[in-house]
Amino acid sequence: MSKITGFLEQPRVKEKYLAPEARLKNYKEFVEPLQGEAARKQATRCMDCGIPFCNNGCPVNNIIPDFNNLVYQDDWKQALDVLHTTNNFPEFTGRICPAPCEAACVLNINQEPVGIKSIELAIIERGWHEGWVVPQPPEAKTGKKVAVVGSGPAGLAAAQQLARAGHDVTVFEKNDRVGGLMRYGIPDFKMEKTHIDRRVAQMEAEGVTFRTGVLVGEWPKDSKVTNLSKENVTPAQLRQEFDAVLLAGGSETPRDLPVPGRDLQGVHYAMEFLPAQNRVNAGDKLKGQLRADGKNVIVIGGGDTGSDCVGTSNRHGAKSVTQFEVMPQPPEQENKPLVWPYWPMKLRTSTSHEEGAVREFAIATKEFIGKGGKLTGLKTVRMEFKDGKLEEVAGSEEIHEAELVLLAMGFTNPVGSVLESFGVEKDARGNAHAGTELVGGYATSVDGVFAAGDMRRGQSLVVWAIREGRQAARAIDEFLMGESVLPR
Ligand SMILES: Cc1cc2nc3c(=O)[nH]c(=O)nc-3n(C[C@H](O)[C@H](O)[C@H](O)COP(=O)(O)OP(=O)(O)OC[C@H]3O[C@@H](n4cnc5c(N)ncnc54)[C@H](O)[C@@H]3O)c2cc1C
Ligand code: SF4
Repeated sequence: MSKITGFLEQPRVKEKYLAPEARLKNYKEFVEPLQGEAARKQATRCMDCGIPFCNNGCPVNNIIPDFNNLVYQDDWKQALDVLHTTNNFPEFTGRICPAPCEAACVLNINQEPVGIKSIELAIIERGWHEGWVVPQPPEAKTGKKVAVVGSGPAGLAAAQQLARAGHDVTVFEKNDRVGGLMRYGIPDFKMEKTHIDRRVAQMEAEGVTFRTGVLVGEWPKDSKVTNLSKENVTPAQLRQEFDAVLLAGGSETPRDLPVPGRDLQGVHYAMEFLPAQNRVNAGDKLKGQLRADGKNVIVIGGGDTGSDCVGTSNRHGAKSVTQFEVMPQPPEQENKPLVWPYWPMKLRTSTSHEEGAVREFAIATKEFIGKGGKLTGLKTVRMEFKDGKLEEVAGSEEIHEAELVLLAMGFTNPVGSVLESFGVEKDARGNAHAGTELVGGYATSVDGVFAAGDMRRGQSLVVWAIREGRQAARAIDEFLMGESVLPR
């Protein structure tokens, strides 16, 4: 255990953020990770609980009390080894995980929780700085070949685990760069892309082959998502060439808002807006980038994607930014005895919100209004719960001025026809149907074809994708070899 009285003496140590005026000038990360003594102070707060609820709250089951203790004892190398036993990419989760572990921390019952995420980030950043993160190629090869479709966190975690188990792994990615939604979704100001690049270099040195710009299956002509791949491979080719296939293609089909005026120029999906900025940051020259400069922007959808649109619009120099959420405003503080150790429903104010945005709750869009084919505003109504049902408030119609509307209302199912072309059975929501059991988990209805991440569970979180990638890798290793020493 770290310091026995630490939690009584030491308040939570917060990471420092650059002031909004400074960070809005560019797309760079603005959080200053904790280092050295500050991280040690934070770690002293861990009570090493008999039942560490944090470990269960964390989707990859990070062994949190152990690495906290090791940081307290200044044994950073060992802390990194412990962290890597459960998480391939702590530098991703240490930046963009919402930290359900902290909601489950026992200190969170009546104090501020241990800053677990900031300690995780401090450990991995120290590891990179000291040169402790090195390729771990396998001692022996199995001669088995595995194809991974999709290079998001699920595909990357699975590929790394499988390569370390001695299999020849090829990752197929339809985009021109590796990383999935971490590359072309999550803005650079939340996570710069060099973190992905250095992991890709590590994985290449471990024997993983990346084939970018290659689409597996056919692209449906009516898809709502743009396909930029230059080459196709068919499922039949993959099945012939590889001993097993993992489908980790995510769930990118955006939910639409088919109200009158939807076709007006100026109404776009969030994913037409966010990836373009990430490409420009990466040095790409785009023709006609969708931008928010000088516009009244309304973001429809109150979640993470919407918040990322707010941050990006403000960096573009939008005239005003407003975010709509159809549900009523949740309470600012959760009822802890009722919800702990679970993830509470409460008002969450992101760093992008802090940079400036009007947030409207219990509001629904009825119509997009325009002139000469161009968006000029939208018509809304207020919503309220009546007898447990969300209903429109009579006479509450309003008009809001807007030249750009970004639809960020979630994602419904995988894009393309990859599941159909493999003949994989789907669940009710159109994702790949596969369970997560210890034996036979992640296997689809087609022999030798597995599924993990958002493509299996629906759009979720990076940390869940890493968990699923790791567990699917073990299932594939067992399928190929009859047994596996890979952890779940
Ligand atoms: C804007 C935005 C912000 C987000 N913010 C956060 C956040 O802050 N924290 C968090 O934890 N989560 C966040 N998420 C969710 C998170 O990014 C996803 O849950 C996670 O990336 C899913 O990982 P995945 O590997 O399953 O799929 P993805 O990351 O979607 O990767 C799938 C990859 O497969 C490729 N692919 C698909 N079909 C094919 C095919 N047929 N052939 C070849 N390649 C194919 C795709 O191009 C893609 O690169 C955010 C999501 C979005 C959209
Ligand atoms: S991965 Fe997320 S839930 Fe797990 S310890 Fe890190 S911040 Fe917490």
